[in-house]
Amino acid sequence: MTEKSAQKDIFCREEIIGSSTLAKVGTARIVLSMDAVAKHHMLVMPIRHVERIDELTDEEHRDIVKALRSIEEFYKAHNIEGYKLVLLSGPAAGQTVQHAHWHVIPGNAEFVTDPKRRSVHYSGEELAWEADVLRRDFRSR
Ligand SMILES: [Zn+2]
Repeated sequence: MTEKSAQKDIFCREEIIGSSTLAKVGTARIVLSMDAVAKHHMLVMPIRHVERIDELTDEEHRDIVKALRSIEEFYKAHNIEGYKLVLLSGPAAGQTVQHAHWHVIPGNAEFVTDPKRRSVHYSGEELAWEADVLRRDFRSR
């Protein structure tokens, strides 16, 4: 993949991903999922374009873990007891956006790879509104 085409994925387009971003933790970003299997289904990813986890720097690894801790705190504050962490690596595994990301799914909701089959769908406007509300919770920590 060339540098130019790498810039086209939605996770590299700030004008698209910016409104659903809940927090940036160093080199990592936390995003509210547009097609979710449960309320507060989030995505964690490096801000830099990285397709597979073996391309992550040590700093990016650390920041991904810090971002996960921050989501854990958010879930605890919202009385969410547990969560699932799902990584789809490569199209054969069902990865649809070729920019490494982890799905963080509250509770015991079943994960579905096909975004169209997920139960919670936000319009762009709804997503921005919900993200704006949740962003304040991340900032207050
Ligand atoms: Zn990207």
